[in-house]
Amino acid sequence: MRRQLLRGSVFTVIIALLTAFILVFTLFDGMYVSMAKSEITNVLSLLSASYREGEDPSAYLRDSHKALTGNTPGSYRLTIIDAATGTVLAETEPGAAAMDHSTRPEVQSAIQSGMGESTRRSDTTGMEYLYIALKADGLIFRGAKPLYEVYAIRTTLMLMCIVGLMAGIVAALLRSRHWANKVVKPVEELTRAAAELKEGGGFARVSPGPDEIGVLGEAFNDMAAAQATAMYRLKEKQTQLSGVLYSILDGVIAVDERGRVLFFNDHALDLPGFEGILLNVPLHGTAPLNELHNLLMDTIRKGEAAKTTLSLKGGEVEAEVHTTCLNIEEKPMGAVAVVRDVTTLRKLEQMRKEFVSNVTHELKTPLTSIRGYVELLKTGERDAPTRQSFYDIIDIESERLHALIEDLLQLSEIENGRDDPRTMVAPLTQALMDMERRFRHRGESIEFTIQREDGILLQMNPVRLLQLLTNLIDNAFKYNTPNGSVAIRAKKDGEHCILTVADTGIGIPKAEQERIFERFYRVDKGRSRAMGGTGLGLAIVKHIVLSVGGTIEVASVPGEGTTFTLTLPLFEGNL
Ligand code: ADP
Repeated sequence: MRRQLLRGSVFTVIIALLTAFILVFTLFDGMYVSMAKSEITNVLSLLSASYREGEDPSAYLRDSHKALTGNTPGSYRLTIIDAATGTVLAETEPGAAAMDHSTRPEVQSAIQSGMGESTRRSDTTGMEYLYIALKADGLIFRGAKPLYEVYAIRTTLMLMCIVGLMAGIVAALLRSRHWANKVVKPVEELTRAAAELKEGGGFARVSPGPDEIGVLGEAFNDMAAAQATAMYRLKEKQTQLSGVLYSILDGVIAVDERGRVLFFNDHALDLPGFEGILLNVPLHGTAPLNELHNLLMDTIRKGEAAKTTLSLKGGEVEAEVHTTCLNIEEKPMGAVAVVRDVTTLRKLEQMRKEFVSNVTHELKTPLTSIRGYVELLKTGERDAPTRQSFYDIIDIESERLHALIEDLLQLSEIENGRDDPRTMVAPLTQALMDMERRFRHRGESIEFTIQREDGILLQMNPVRLLQLLTNLIDNAFKYNTPNGSVAIRAKKDGEHCILTVADTGIGIPKAEQERIFERFYRVDKGRSRAMGGTGLGLAIVKHIVLSVGGTIEVASVPGEGTTFTLTLPLFEGNL
């Protein structure tokens, strides 16, 4: 632009000056020639008027020429020609008298019309002349004026013109550079700032000025500031939104109206079969992604939210999908899907249902029995031994109910337990001594032994330790065989205590060993019930062990016996 401006102004100056000089030239030429014409015409009129017939033309011409030109005889050339013959009668230019001048165009015109003129180079003097011829009294009076003056002036004018042109060009260059700087510089600054703004330079500004470009600069600055504010708000919103989307534990995937992925969070990639999601391409590759793509496209087409369930990892994982249409001014621009892994939720739901049904069943059985015997007692006359046996059954069933409710309460307490085992200490020696007292006379044919290191302190609630030991030892007696044994061993091992409860009882088949820790799971229902079992003992044990960060394992051979091995954390603090 700067160059164009310079070029334009120089061109304009050249054109303007050239036009002016051509006009001046033309005017000057015209004026000079017409002045010369009238001057010569006047001289010739005077000559012809004052010439007397019979007078010597040469003498007359010499005197007149001298009178006219004084000291500058070269300024005029005069000739008297006989109009009839074309013979030169007198001539002020020496050596030209002998020439025949009748054929000259001005002479020819004068002979025909009384007056003639012509401009040409003289053969005699070699100079350019303006010739005028006037016919009077059979004579042609011809005057000629050299045009060297006009050439000299023309040359001077030409030189002036060149100097003027140069000066004009220099002035135009300087002026246009000044203007270029004044106009182009702010425009360049604006261009640079606009480019910077386009590249994301939110702080691009220009220096404002008083003229129109300055006002434009101010408007640009205002616009840039407004854009920076809008960008900042947008980024802030985007950060908030990203934060929200990333903090959602569900997979979130957004697509545009053609199904191309616009956004997805990390949790989406954690879902099985969703690892291949790519930005800017539609969801495809795996069955769940294809299914999700179709669902999203359906949502966009219908403009309605939708919900479905996806079966992932060959049915191992169940995911719930909610899709919503993204509308901008009521025009569907895409859709978003929220995918939630509901496998655990479903399992928990299932477990809860099973638990409720189990509890109901377990409560119902003794209650039905109690009600039945109460009815029997109320309705008929019974002898004393029969009544006694009914009372005994009612007593046993009540005891069973009580034990069941106790175990349920314990389980719920452990599950909801708020006590921090790290701050608690349970002396194992004392707990084992309690166990010995309690089970010493439990089965007379069963040998009960305890081997323990002294001074084992466990990091756990002492009440829970008693519950844990009671359940394990009670089972070891319950599922034992006559003349069997129950052996407890406790020893320290690093930061843990290894506790084993071993019996020589009926044992547990391999396939059942994993399930015995489930609530209400019994290997032999009849035997458990007959022994007053609730089916919750090992579930309670497992919950207690896990709550203190320990482990429990079972090793059993049917017909030979069972050993439970537990690792429990030792108390590390000071008492
Ligand atoms: P229960 O009240 O029926 O004893 P538990 O939860 O304590 O319930 O035990 C679950 C099941 O595990 C029992 O019904 C029994 O079949 C089996 N079991 C537990 N301990 C032993 C053991 N020491 N020997 C053999 N079977 C056992």
